[in-house]
Amino acid sequence: MKVTVVGSGYVGTTTALVLASLGHQVIGYDIDAGKVERLNNGELPFTEPGLDQMLRDLLGSGRMTFTSDSRSAVTESEVLMISVGTPSMPNGGADLKYLRQVLDTIAAHINEPKIIVTKSTVPIGTNRWMKERLSEIIDMQTYPVEVVSNPEFLREGEALYDSLHPSRTVIGGENESAMDKVKGLYASLQTTYVVCNYETAEMIKYASNGFLAAKISFINEMARLADRVGADIRGVAQGMGLDPRISPHHLYAGIGYGGSCFPKDVDELLYFGTQQGTELELLRQVKRINDSQIAWFADKMQSVLPLEGKRIAVLGVAFKENTDDQRESPGIKMIEQLLHRGVQEIRVVDPTVESVEHIHWSKGIDRKMLSRVNVVTEASEAVAGAHAVVLATPWPQFSSYPWEAWASIAETAYFFDGRNYLDPAEMRSKGWHFTGIARGETT
Ligand code: NAD
Repeated sequence: MKVTVVGSGYVGTTTALVLASLGHQVIGYDIDAGKVERLNNGELPFTEPGLDQMLRDLLGSGRMTFTSDSRSAVTESEVLMISVGTPSMPNGGADLKYLRQVLDTIAAHINEPKIIVTKSTVPIGTNRWMKERLSEIIDMQTYPVEVVSNPEFLREGEALYDSLHPSRTVIGGENESAMDKVKGLYASLQTTYVVCNYETAEMIKYASNGFLAAKISFINEMARLADRVGADIRGVAQGMGLDPRISPHHLYAGIGYGGSCFPKDVDELLYFGTQQGTELELLRQVKRINDSQIAWFADKMQSVLPLEGKRIAVLGVAFKENTDDQRESPGIKMIEQLLHRGVQEIRVVDPTVESVEHIHWSKGIDRKMLSRVNVVTEASEAVAGAHAVVLATPWPQFSSYPWEAWASIAETAYFFDGRNYLDPAEMRSKGWHFTGIARGETT
């Protein structure tokens, strides 16, 4: 099939490449001409394992091109798949301005009947609204347009694997033949289809992210209790996770969830619930627990080592390993928390970050405080002379550093593992005064 994927971000680029690898003729369209140029030169504008090679291979195959020309993007494909961002507005609701722009672009260039597939995460009711909106701006008698909801579930860092091995493929809509066409896009993948109406499809996406966020806040709340009584939260999670009704996934205690999806999707659900007169009480607590998890861990650190005037190494800025995505990153919030607590200097290391200007600080942060932050390229530089090390992102390389040797280059060898990533006994045997999230020590 001929498909244009609108938006060449994390989701759009992955989806475009996967569809091209399945044999479809794919155009990736983005308004950002610089991004398009980089992609056409075989350069991925973000970090995602496996995608760079795939991009270069597929550009050579002739089945994948990228463009910033809206006319050809619309006219050359029968299927237009929307993967633009839907960020949070200050009131928590999802901002649909990019989606609206896309509908206008489609209306401006439409030349034949089209199927519009919504891959972006959009509030419940949006696909139905899109259909109405399109019928206002397009002559539907001449160019009938169908809208199909097909939300995306990939995880950054594992995007390629997840797209090639989807846990499910949700197809929401009203027109059977359009929905069958969208199913046909994935015909060569092993997947389970969930075919449903628009609202069900939209809600599957939000409820899934809300539930995953709830699992994380649940285990973090349990960790606060475990920390009081000397229980090891990793053992608790393991013991719980063996029950197939619970499953071990997403039961990792840490400094909270972040990224471009969970925080914004929880916010949209809360906003939408209020709009509908249905307060989502559980989810509100999920958010509260997450919002206070970094301060909770900083209090814990403070009880071990007074933070004021200290030099601290922070390992990790990306919201998780194997991505450069910093949106709502707990690592950044941790750095800001430490600055507020009077830490004298923070040396930051992350394989995807080159400078302080490259870090997406919170809006409204006092820029003067940032003079206390330095980005270094080698972790040893960050650790040398530090009073403490904080692990904020579980990048695989952080586990293989020569921690034994580094215990003696630190000013004082305090290690705070915000992701329960390293083994406490091993780190202690290597000379570190080690504190994780409820790893069996009592406060
Ligand atoms: P992103 O910010 O990485 O990419 C969005 C892209 O859309 C950008 O390149 C931007 O330039 C482009 N764009 C904006 N307006 C445009 C327009 N009018 N025409 C063409 N291109 C335009 O976003 P993302 O992380 O890929 O997320 C996209 C959507 O997918 C969001 O709704 C998100 O919630 C959802 N989602 C994301 C993930 C994830 O892990 N990132 C997972 C599942 C679902």
